[in-house]
Amino acid sequence: MFQVWRAKKIQRCVAVLLSGLLIAPQTGAQQPPRPPLPPEVFDALAEAVETPYLELFDKAAESEFSAAQIQRMRDYFDDSEDVCLKGMKRKAKALDKDLEKARKELRQKTNSRTISEAERHDLHCTIQNRRIEQEQAALFAKHSIPLAYQHKEAKLDLLESWPAELLRIDEDIESGAYLRREHGDVEDIGFREIVEGQNKDIKRGQEAIYEMRSLGLMPRELDDERVRTYVDRLAQAVGARSDLQVPLNVTVLDSDEINAFALPGGYLFIHRGLLEAVENDSQLVGVIAHEIAHVTARHGHRLMKRATIASILYQAAQVGAIIFTGGAVGIGTYYALQYGFYGLGLVLSLELLGVSRDYELEADRLGVQYTWNAGYDPRGFIEFFDKMATEEGYIRGASWFRTHPPFYARMLESRREIAFLPRKAELIVETDKFREFQSDLEFCTEGEERSTPEEPCRPTLLEPYEKDCPPPDKIDYEPGQPIEAVCFPASPSR
Ligand SMILES: [Zn+2]
Repeated sequence: MFQVWRAKKIQRCVAVLLSGLLIAPQTGAQQPPRPPLPPEVFDALAEAVETPYLELFDKAAESEFSAAQIQRMRDYFDDSEDVCLKGMKRKAKALDKDLEKARKELRQKTNSRTISEAERHDLHCTIQNRRIEQEQAALFAKHSIPLAYQHKEAKLDLLESWPAELLRIDEDIESGAYLRREHGDVEDIGFREIVEGQNKDIKRGQEAIYEMRSLGLMPRELDDERVRTYVDRLAQAVGARSDLQVPLNVTVLDSDEINAFALPGGYLFIHRGLLEAVENDSQLVGVIAHEIAHVTARHGHRLMKRATIASILYQAAQVGAIIFTGGAVGIGTYYALQYGFYGLGLVLSLELLGVSRDYELEADRLGVQYTWNAGYDPRGFIEFFDKMATEEGYIRGASWFRTHPPFYARMLESRREIAFLPRKAELIVETDKFREFQSDLEFCTEGEERSTPEEPCRPTLLEPYEKDCPPPDKIDYEPGQPIEAVCFPASPSR
């Protein structure tokens, strides 16, 4: 029962503060008045949206919330997202103005030759810091805040729709209708053809890799044999139990991004950040299997029939130019590397990766099947979405979230497929090998501190262009905090 769930003080404080903000005359004046939710319902719903998907799937059937209450909460989140976004955009704009002001002052003083070295240094620092702060605010407005609210909405959708969906699933199992679902022939994985002509994509994948390298978009490969071997073996084991008809080519990239992607033709790329973020084998296999499914279903090919690789990557490079070039423009990179937010994930074309809402759902279903067929627990895939949202926070998590938004339909698709799959006695969640591999990774991470040539595990962070500046006034946001803490920093939760 949601009503008896352990109340989280922080969320309640933030929620209370938000309710106050939203009914305040300056923000709520144009809104038609809505009857507020009783506090116990509000608290219970606020807590439910912070509950992991798998737990929520189990509990939603007992939920006593009415459709009207859930809708009221949805409206409330819409309003608070609105306030949150507007505030963040205002902040970004104000920083932009400060930036312009400092630039102007620098220009004028330089032109009139009245500037001292100390003044120049101060102005350089101001410009550098405002840029960092402005970028951070813009990223929150563009990615983190919308994603955080999307995640909340998915949970509300689940509460509302899952009980009826569960009944339908039971009926389908009872009547045998589930066997006729698309790709329902799971006993024939490896012998069926999802989409004909996988091997025709090899050339396209190679071309893409070549283009990405020549445009400087590809991070370097991780320099750790043991980690690479572990990931390769795991991915090959999943590939061998999938519908793959091309060789699987696995590369581990030395980058902080929590991301993985597959290029057409069987080229799988996994970022170190993802390897650090997963908690067990089943979560990692879930992501790998999902990416393999994009290859077996030829999503990249189906989405980019007309476009050429070069034209797509040229667009990516234009975005990438802002991010990857050095010097003064490299401040963005400096910030990005600090937070592991930007990177390949932000510049890669969704077309090339075969990412669309429908294809994601298909890849979710097939990925769950491949995970199961390889003997791993497919629930790890669903678990990973919560892990990204709650523990890693929305900053580092945004890479995978950008291409894989956590909308409810995909959670449903994965969960339903799990219900339809034949039972297996022992599904692997975590192995000793995984724990060993993660300690290898930790070793690698610690190497960064020592940064001796013998331990080149991580690329060193870019140095800021102007040295010895005061630290920028960044938005203080810890992974795991509710996103409201970013928008309403005066909240009692801090
Ligand atoms: Zn995908």
